[in-house]
Amino acid sequence: MPSVTIYSTPQCPYCRMVKAFFDRKGIPYRDINVAEDRKAAEEVVRISGQLGVPVTVVDGEVIVGFDAQRLNELFGAPKRGPVADVMILGAGPAGLTAAVYTARKGLSTLVIAQNIGGQALESWAIENYMGFRMVKGDDLMKRFEEQVRELQIQLELDGVLSLGMADGLFVVKTATERSFSARSVIIATGKHPRSLGVADEEKFIGRGLSICSTCDGPLFRGKTVAVVGGGNSALQTAIEMSGIAQTVYLIVRSTLRCDDAYLEIYRKKENIVTFTNVEVSRLIGEKFLTGIAIKDRKTGEERELALDGLFAEIGWLPNTGFLDDLVTLNQEKEVIIDVNCHTNVPGIFAAGDVTSVKGKQIIIAAGEGAKAALEVYEWLVKEGATGAAPPA
Ligand SMILES: Cc1cc2nc3c(=O)[nH]c(=O)nc-3n(C[C@H](O)[C@H](O)[C@H](O)COP(=O)(O)OP(=O)(O)OC[C@H]3O[C@@H](n4cnc5c(N)ncnc54)[C@H](O)[C@@H]3O)c2cc1C
Repeated sequence: MPSVTIYSTPQCPYCRMVKAFFDRKGIPYRDINVAEDRKAAEEVVRISGQLGVPVTVVDGEVIVGFDAQRLNELFGAPKRGPVADVMILGAGPAGLTAAVYTARKGLSTLVIAQNIGGQALESWAIENYMGFRMVKGDDLMKRFEEQVRELQIQLELDGVLSLGMADGLFVVKTATERSFSARSVIIATGKHPRSLGVADEEKFIGRGLSICSTCDGPLFRGKTVAVVGGGNSALQTAIEMSGIAQTVYLIVRSTLRCDDAYLEIYRKKENIVTFTNVEVSRLIGEKFLTGIAIKDRKTGEERELALDGLFAEIGWLPNTGFLDDLVTLNQEKEVIIDVNCHTNVPGIFAAGDVTSVKGKQIIIAAGEGAKAALEVYEWLVKEGATGAAPPA
């Protein structure tokens, strides 16, 4: 048996996924909670050079983040799966809901995703998903995942690199050099955060610049951090970090544009210091981020802020890079769908934040996932391409 140690924090969804990977393989591991164990928190930075979790050590090899590709390389995964009725790309609210619907219709269902839960994992307080007065994104997604795991659904943690067509089937190639085929596809790959557009961003990711406040927030206890953005996501992160960090700078390009519910909580937080009409002009630091420069958009005046951590919450781009020209996209690079989730290619459907549908919310993504699944079923039955029973 390999020796496996996982450094994690309790609220980190990616840590949960790493642990689920080893649980599924039946491989025991030592789990160290760095939110409680200060020494371990220092150790994880020393061995990985990162200010972020999860960090997994397998027989001395340090694996940073939830790196499904490296884990599959080390512990093996079948190179080619059987042909599925439907292949769902993405396991956020849209993909997971679609999977439950297609599996319940008797379709053989394959889900391929880099993580389970999608963006909702990043939200610490969801107050607009019906049935819950308030629920943490991680908790809500755990419930989605449980419901999926109760059904006959093949779940593959992997990155989709391309989607194409061959011999009348849809074929996906993945980051671990596997290929999967299906008779139909639902694209539910959501969106990813926009970058700040300043030099050295890549260099500082995990070294002070975080893309998951839920995961890495506890590592900045008592420190100074900045959150960039003026929308709901930025406010959520600033409020969350105000309970962990000593000081939170909120860096807003124009003015705050968020829901009143967040504004009300934000106004009560005395350790959030807000700068409006400014943008981040430089990242400062050698190995780790130690500060940023912000520039006044009217006067051009620049000032430096010393800090330990930076959270960028400045908007999103759809995850459609792997599609090339296979389906039609709009100007924002979102997949164009009709009211029933059909793309311009018969057999390819799409749902959730990756699509041209305006509302980007969990309840909408889940609803669209359900709609796409029902359309897939009807399409497969019409095509005579599935053994599942016809619609009642
Ligand atoms: C901080 C934050 C707070 C939020 N708060 C709320 C809230 O309070 N209420 C609300 O309704 N909404 C909220 N949202 C928005 C909500 O989370 C999204 O609208 C919703 O998650 C969209 O679901 P989705 O399934 O379409 O996409 P996503 O959630 O983005 O899921 C996409 C899935 O696709 C996978 N994927 C992407 N690219 C690839 C690839 N190439 N290969 C394999 N897999 C891939 C991802 O791993 C993921 O599993 C919040 C979002 C954020 C970031």
